[in-house]
Amino acid sequence: MSTPAPIAPASAPVCGHTACTTAAVAHWTRRLTAVELAAIPIEQHNTGMQLMVYACGPHAITLDLAARIHQPGCSGPNAASLPTCDCTPELPATDTAPVTTTLATGWQIGP
Ligand SMILES: [Zn+2]
Ligand SMILES: [Zn+2]
Repeated sequence: MSTPAPIAPASAPVCGHTACTTAAVAHWTRRLTAVELAAIPIEQHNTGMQLMVYACGPHAITLDLAARIHQPGCSGPNAASLPTCDCTPELPATDTAPVTTTLATGWQIGP
């Protein structure tokens, strides 16, 4: 299954910290909460849906954590937990697995 592109804002992103409006320099992704998912038309739902989270330099989490996919309840960027966050982010799925296709009986790939 392919992973859809994370949902990004239409305008230039700013820091996601509640008290900060600085232009973002870092970003990572997290899963959508049930409330956020409910705001999206059901026909656009996908099991791999992620939301882009942005942060300015001082409010960014570590690069290692930013490389992971965060839980729906992750409050980052949150000054109380920086430079980490308050969830246990999951490692992103590797895209290196070969794409396999199951053909109907009798069909073969290639000459
Ligand atoms: Zn900030
Ligand atoms: Zn997190």
